[in-house]
Amino acid sequence: MTARPRGKATGPCPIGRAVGVIGERWTLLILRNATLGTTRFEAFRSELGIADNILSDRLARMVEAGLLARVPYTEGRRVRHEYRLTDAGAGVLPVLHALAAWGEEHTRAGESSPSMRVVHRPCGHATGPGGPRATCDHCGQPIRRDDELWVRPWRSPDPIPLAQPFPWKSR
Ligand SMILES: [Zn+2]
Repeated sequence: MTARPRGKATGPCPIGRAVGVIGERWTLLILRNATLGTTRFEAFRSELGIADNILSDRLARMVEAGLLARVPYTEGRRVRHEYRLTDAGAGVLPVLHALAAWGEEHTRAGESSPSMRVVHRPCGHATGPGGPRATCDHCGQPIRRDDELWVRPWRSPDPIPLAQPFPWKSR
């Protein structure tokens, strides 16, 4: 079941509504890192270099908009919360692909850096520079979310599997 985002975005244009929910800079970067498996406040903070107050504001709005689920976990005897992608949050993946492809084509990395790659796990080959790919360039098979790995060589040579959406019921 797909969670229905409850952002304030309304109006006839779906692009306008989407930008109203996910178009803010930090929101997209939080979604990128959540897609790569980040779930905890401290991890988002150190990965993004974002101020505490801005991060907690964005996370709260993203939970309200149905992009993230706030899920309790215990650490010692303390109950804490982590932030997991909902179906709606995980559904941003094609947008991230499109941003990566656009960024490769129309912006520059500055210092020379190998590009981000998307790797198709079953065949082990890279498929495009992060662009939207329904099927693998190498083997022609459909690329499912759990078969997709990202390599971001400026961070680590290790391929990163994508986070799966948290099973979340719409309210
Ligand atoms: Zn393949």
